[in-house]
Amino acid sequence: MTLERSLVLVKPDGYARGLSGEVLRRIEAKGYTLVALAVTTPDRDRLAAHYAEHEGKPFYEPLLDFMSSGPVTAAVIEGQGCIPGFRSLAGATNPTEAAPGSIRGDLGRDWGEKVQKNIVHGSDSPESAAREIGIWFPEL
Ligand code: ADP
Ligand code: MG
Repeated sequence: MTLERSLVLVKPDGYARGLSGEVLRRIEAKGYTLVALAVTTPDRDRLAAHYAEHEGKPFYEPLLDFMSSGPVTAAVIEGQGCIPGFRSLAGATNPTEAAPGSIRGDLGRDWGEKVQKNIVHGSDSPESAAREIGIWFPEL
């Protein structure tokens, strides 16, 4: 494992439920460092860049609607192996299937909507992390 950075978002559902602190607590308890932190309501241009890989999928438009619906807490975290490490903390994409102990498994559920409201986003590779950090924190 190498020292790496990952882009983490507490999505609008997590922010609205007051779970930003809980997510950040788990990140810090794991031993990762907070490098940058911001609260912002993203516009669709930023989200289209962030979710470019999903353009054309059935959940893409609902996803952009949801993600632009309110504030998110955005963070850059740092640590050895923090990209797969945070994905493990987050749990499976579908919160019904996410293992207990994970953020999505402990705190998420199916809300019967077109998009999975699953509390957090985490970069899935070093290439994604570099790209996403550039989108959310261009000053870094
Ligand atoms: P992850 O966030 O675990 O990396 P993806 O990159 O595959 O998952 O998808 C991005 C986001 O799009 C998911 O976190 C979820 O909010 C939403 N999503 C993904 N797949 C579906 C789906 N089949 N139905 C509804 N929403 C989905
Ligand atoms: Mg993803």
